[in-house]
Amino acid sequence: MTPTLTLVQGDITEQSADAIVNAANSSLLGGGGVDGAIHRRGGPEILAECRALRASRYGKGLRTGQAVATTAGRLDARWVIHTVGPVHSAGEDRSALLASCYRESLRVADELGARTVAFPAVSTGVYGWPINDAARIAVEAVRAAGTAVEEVRFVLFDDRAYAAFAEHVR
Ligand code: ADP
Repeated sequence: MTPTLTLVQGDITEQSADAIVNAANSSLLGGGGVDGAIHRRGGPEILAECRALRASRYGKGLRTGQAVATTAGRLDARWVIHTVGPVHSAGEDRSALLASCYRESLRVADELGARTVAFPAVSTGVYGWPINDAARIAVEAVRAAGTAVEEVRFVLFDDRAYAAFAEHVR
């Protein structure tokens, strides 16, 4: 089944969903952008679980394109799924890694039994991915994922990002 794709403009930390995806970095120990907002609003429980992951299975951190879940703390969700997007490169095509973020996040969501999953536009902030290209990759990856998730909601921070995703979700 292909999930229903929906678009929302706003702050992903205000969403209500089974799982909220974090555009994390490989340290799993927080950062700016979506990551900072999720930890601020979700509270210290999320970081505590991230630290525990670093102390156990993810000693070297989470690899680019992979995903792992923690509690959602005080967010209106059951889980946060952390995924690490690739830094955009003009000289190297890293789009398979960006697609992997969506596919792996949905695989984790399936393992958890999540029905609704909210995604930010991974890699389009500090990591510099052009929004139109990122939107195309995101939508194609979700459509190809073969997930049991019923709703994938893209939560876009600004008008431009929203318009870019709207081009591809029709
Ligand atoms: P990355 O490091 O993967 O590029 P960022 O968090 O810097 O991640 O940015 C990813 C995208 O998320 C950008 O388009 C940015 O504008 C957007 N963004 C930043 N804060 C939020 C938020 N609170 N909710 C939704 N999107 C956000």
